[in-house]
Amino acid sequence: MAVGVLALQGSFNEHIAALRRIGARGVEIRKAEQLQNVTSLIIPGGESTTMAKLAELNNLFPALREFVKMGKPVWGTCAGLIFLADRATGQKIGGQELIGGLDCTVHRNFFGSQIQSFEADLLVPEIVLKEGGPPSFRGVFIRAPAILEVGPEVEVLADVPYPSSKIIIQEQEDAGSPKKAIVAVKQGNILATAFHPELTADTRWHSYFLKMTTEVDEASSSIIIPYGGQ
Ligand code: GLN
Repeated sequence: MAVGVLALQGSFNEHIAALRRIGARGVEIRKAEQLQNVTSLIIPGGESTTMAKLAELNNLFPALREFVKMGKPVWGTCAGLIFLADRATGQKIGGQELIGGLDCTVHRNFFGSQIQSFEADLLVPEIVLKEGGPPSFRGVFIRAPAILEVGPEVEVLADVPYPSSKIIIQEQEDAGSPKKAIVAVKQGNILATAFHPELTADTRWHSYFLKMTTEVDEASSSIIIPYGGQ
């Protein structure tokens, strides 16, 4: 069983290293056909416009969309989350191709520019329940997006109060909207985080995703093909 890591740009090496720390094998994915060799896929953080351009150049979008639709586990971190969103707003989003599949609206660079990057302790009961360990996670937010609204199938795993960063959406302020931004969600086979667990020593997110991967692997290997089957 192998976990693919989209290796066009961004923090793919860090994800592969985190997987190695928990005894799992991460495989670099650069071509559509390589997706056939992996059970699940991590789409790393980086720069989503650049990543989209490289994915387009390598004709990866149809295979990536197919992978998500087949119900294979996919985890997007930061730019990877933007890639997986059905809808995106914010800086320079026009024309940028997305994989989609995750029923949410994501706002790119929600917390501001590079110098407004920050770290925050996050409470994520779902992961603590499954993985144990200390009650909070160090969230590393680098020019991070935030999720503004989610569809009914989406489970919110974590949010972060705005004041730890700059509020950039004036209309939201004016409307007196909640002062919390959604930063981690799960919708069936899709996991998405606005922050970078691969840049910390805490491997619980990777273990959690590996469990999602194992479940799919076990389910597919238990299919019995009768004699004469193709
Ligand atoms: N701001 C970046 C983008 O819009 C994402 C940043 C990240 O992945 N750390 O693509």
